[in-house]
Amino acid sequence: FLEGKRALVTGSTSGIGLAIARALAGEGAEVVLNGFGDEGEIAQLCEELGASHNGADLTDVAQIEAMMAEAGAVDILVNNAGMQHVAPVEEFPVEKWETIIALNLTAAFHTVRLAVPGMKGKGWGRIINTASAHSKVASPFKSAYNSAKHGLDGFTKTIALELAEHGVTANCISPGYVWTPLVENQIPDTMKARGLTREEVINDVLLVKQATKKFVQPEEIGALAAFLCRDEAQNVNGANWSVDGGWTAE
Ligand code: NAD
Repeated sequence: FLEGKRALVTGSTSGIGLAIARALAGEGAEVVLNGFGDEGEIAQLCEELGASHNGADLTDVAQIEAMMAEAGAVDILVNNAGMQHVAPVEEFPVEKWETIIALNLTAAFHTVRLAVPGMKGKGWGRIINTASAHSKVASPFKSAYNSAKHGLDGFTKTIALELAEHGVTANCISPGYVWTPLVENQIPDTMKARGLTREEVINDVLLVKQATKKFVQPEEIGALAAFLCRDEAQNVNGANWSVDGGWTAE
């Protein structure tokens, strides 16, 4: 149902973004990938998905502008690239704060402001922002990330209202812990650091707030993103979809 639609998914060379790109390509969208990684692997992904790739660093406004110009008029914009840093607020590196706000929040403002004229012109568009459970609740030591993700929720609601009469919707998807290489690779270190077994790390550290005690799979986020692109989802607007196993219900 996405034949003839052009989708840009930021941070889509791995994890959640890649799963979203796969889901949209699977429905026939022509996908532009963005993100860092091994050139050979990215070339293989492009071939697999019939996609193209733009390696813009989204902390740099000039590179975002060049990427948006190269991508042309996109019908579906998924702002997914993001990063984390964990430190007490009084020790939080100033440069990390700036980078996280730039990537997790400001980049979405730039891609949106540049994509909106094309969407308005066509009278159709979908903006999907990967937020987080941390767009709704906080955890300590993640001040920049929580601030950026709460900001992304507010930004999404604002543009949802501004664009509502133009056939353009804007929504957040807010995962809890998703089983990505990023999460998997933390387990051995956490086992060592805390003297815990693999099961203890998973259940007592990572999944402590995720009521289902199950990781979200990236494909589940991809499926929801694809649903939000359907015409049946035209009145789903300004929402923040939790996919967190019940974390934020508490
Ligand atoms: P990931 O590290 O696997 O993927 C991040 C992607 O962003 C990669 O493609 C990477 O190359 C790209 N990227 C990083 N810095 C970039 C930059 N400066 N410019 C352009 N691209 C850049 O992470 P993920 O787990 O798939 O997370 C994706 C999104 O989902 C993030 O916004 C993250 O905050 C959010 N999220 C993840 C989880 C989780 O448990 N994994 C939970 C909630 C929200």
